[in-house]
Amino acid sequence: MRLNSLRVIIIGGATGGCAAALLLARAGARVTLCERIAQPHTVGAGIGLASNGLAVLESIGLGPALRVARPVLGGLVSNAAGRPLLRPPASAPLMHMLRRETLQRILLDAVSAEPLVETRFGTTLVEARPDGTVTVRRDGADHDEVIEADLVVGADGVHSRVREGGRFGATVRRSGLHYLRALLPAGLGQQREVWTSAGILGSFEVDDGTYLYASCNTPRLRAAVRGCDVDVLRATWRDAYAASAPLFDTIDRWQSLLVHEVTEVRCRRWWHGTLVLLGDAAHAMAPNLGQGANSALVDAAVLLHELRRAETLAEGLEAYARRRRPRVHAVARSAAALGRIGEWTGPVARGIRDRAILPVLNAMTTTGTLRRVLQEDATVLREIGRMQPAY
Ligand SMILES: Cc1cc2nc3c(=O)[nH]c(=O)nc-3n(C[C@H](O)[C@H](O)[C@H](O)COP(=O)(O)OP(=O)(O)OC[C@H]3O[C@@H](n4cnc5c(N)ncnc54)[C@H](O)[C@@H]3O)c2cc1C
Repeated sequence: MRLNSLRVIIIGGATGGCAAALLLARAGARVTLCERIAQPHTVGAGIGLASNGLAVLESIGLGPALRVARPVLGGLVSNAAGRPLLRPPASAPLMHMLRRETLQRILLDAVSAEPLVETRFGTTLVEARPDGTVTVRRDGADHDEVIEADLVVGADGVHSRVREGGRFGATVRRSGLHYLRALLPAGLGQQREVWTSAGILGSFEVDDGTYLYASCNTPRLRAAVRGCDVDVLRATWRDAYAASAPLFDTIDRWQSLLVHEVTEVRCRRWWHGTLVLLGDAAHAMAPNLGQGANSALVDAAVLLHELRRAETLAEGLEAYARRRRPRVHAVARSAAALGRIGEWTGPVARGIRDRAILPVLNAMTTTGTLRRVLQEDATVLREIGRMQPAY
């Protein structure tokens, strides 16, 4: 279908929403991008771009700006003594690590320069209906505004309000697993993930900083989170993994940490009427394969691809859901399983895992496994954004 003059409202101006806005606008759609945060530039710690997400961003011309990202071999996991546990195959693609804030700024700069995108920051979705009627409220306004759209894209994250507006058959599952994220001074990253008796810890160099993430799931770490106690956090991690000391020594305020519970979203349907979901709104997943943000980017590209190939909006949305849903769900299942075994902290369970389970997993991990994690061929993704506008 021709997208020119299609009126699109995108709710959520983060990774998935911005990418969808750029892709759809360049295909001729008139896009209104609503984001509830008034200054959405500075949130999050670090983020990893895999070859699938990177291909989408390159296709919309953001490759040069993303050269600040630091390449690292994806999937490299060792134990606290430095012995490799998970060994990615030689063909494993690189992850590119950068501040989430940097990615967000690059996307927002591109969105602001796009003539067919109108941005509305500090604007919260109140209600979206399957007939395309969208009610929003601007910060400080004393009344709601109603906008009509041909297509409403819910890129509004785990607790999506767009999802509430349609019949998506959604299940939202809180995993009970918590992780902290932080940005530390540059030069501390160990460029790998470590599985320890306190859980998972990763530290990677990002542009001008170090991205740290760590589990908060043992009783002592849970107590540290409850009491916002940096000393207990530092001591617990030092006991489990002495090499973490230089990382935690740079943290002096609990307020500099972001703590999130892993919440998984699974939807039986991804579209209803004019409403369609992408990114975390459709499929929030455990972070353990680094595919949350990357899958949101792939969603945006595939949505455009399928709309263009279809005769009608309904056909395009159905094709998008059919192509994306099974692949994303397979990755989400694997990420959750990997996260669970990474959190085994008892000595017996870790012994069995490290000596019996992981060697089998390593032997079974092939190029085909990696292809399934990446979900779509990077060449196809690169082409989608590069297609000439239809107007
Ligand atoms: C604050 C924050 C920090 C994060 N930090 C990291 C990190 O450091 N590392 C990492 O790997 N992942 C992080 N994530 C998760 C990661 O960004 C996402 O998993 C991934 O990028 C998928 O992106 P998304 O666009 O689907 O959803 P999200 O990134 O969750 O974005 C959803 C957007 O929708 C907006 N929104 C929500 N409800 C409404 C509404 N009613 N009206 C208007 N706008 C709305 C939100 O403000 C947000 O900007 C973070 C997410 C958030 C929200």
